[in-house]
Amino acid sequence: MRGTLYPRTITSLKGVRVAFTGKGAHSRVHQYDEVRRLGGTPENRLTTAGHELQVLVRGTSTRWHYGEFGLKEAAVLERLKAGYPVAMISQAGFEALLCGKRAKTLEYVAGVPCDWYLAVEEKRYLVAARIAGPLDKLVDAMGRVEQAYLRRLHVRADAKGCGSCALCGVKVPTELLVAAHIKQRSSCTSRQRRDAEHVAFAVCVFGCDALYERGWITVDEGGAVRVSSMLRSTAALRKAADKYKKRLCSAHNVHSEPYFEWHRLHRFIG
Ligand SMILES: [Zn+2]
Repeated sequence: MRGTLYPRTITSLKGVRVAFTGKGAHSRVHQYDEVRRLGGTPENRLTTAGHELQVLVRGTSTRWHYGEFGLKEAAVLERLKAGYPVAMISQAGFEALLCGKRAKTLEYVAGVPCDWYLAVEEKRYLVAARIAGPLDKLVDAMGRVEQAYLRRLHVRADAKGCGSCALCGVKVPTELLVAAHIKQRSSCTSRQRRDAEHVAFAVCVFGCDALYERGWITVDEGGAVRVSSMLRSTAALRKAADKYKKRLCSAHNVHSEPYFEWHRLHRFIG
């Protein structure tokens, strides 16, 4: 649990508040008894406050409030975003705990990767950033640390939970923004990778992330978003290009310019 608010496994329910969502193999009353037997406290719902670990056991349902998940799962995400320790396990994971085994926590909560909201201190980020070569975001533990740190730094939410794309300026819920490297990570020096504040930016998943990564858009030395001729080839692409007209990239400044320069020279397809 050290350094992370979303543990990868749960080994015990002692002192843990446990809620259930959806149907399980046994009745709710029986499940509550089992939670008490293991030293935990059964709860009807999760709260978004409190520093003790809260665990949601996800059962099955054919009528979740949000299609793929329910209100309690949405509350887990809110708790995670607010920086309180929380975890979600499956019904099978709960059964494992009853047998004295450990339960693996679920990697997605309310459709969002939990790793996005890991609480990572700068110290741990710097350790991850020293590692050369590509880090597999989803598998490598250090990749998770790095992504979570960059995300916390760049994907800022306002009071309504929304943030802005540094390229097109669209204001959307932060789930639709990613923290991306301005200069491809594997091409950065160790010092550049540790420059978390300037080497990455928040971009939306409505095209900006993909177009930038493929070099179909870039940012010029004055901070203006520049569009590749590739975006003139079809009507749909021309429409996509329109939103960059007269756009200034909000992440461009003297410190980030060297990273954008690399992108113009090595990635941009003019
Ligand atoms: Zn965008």
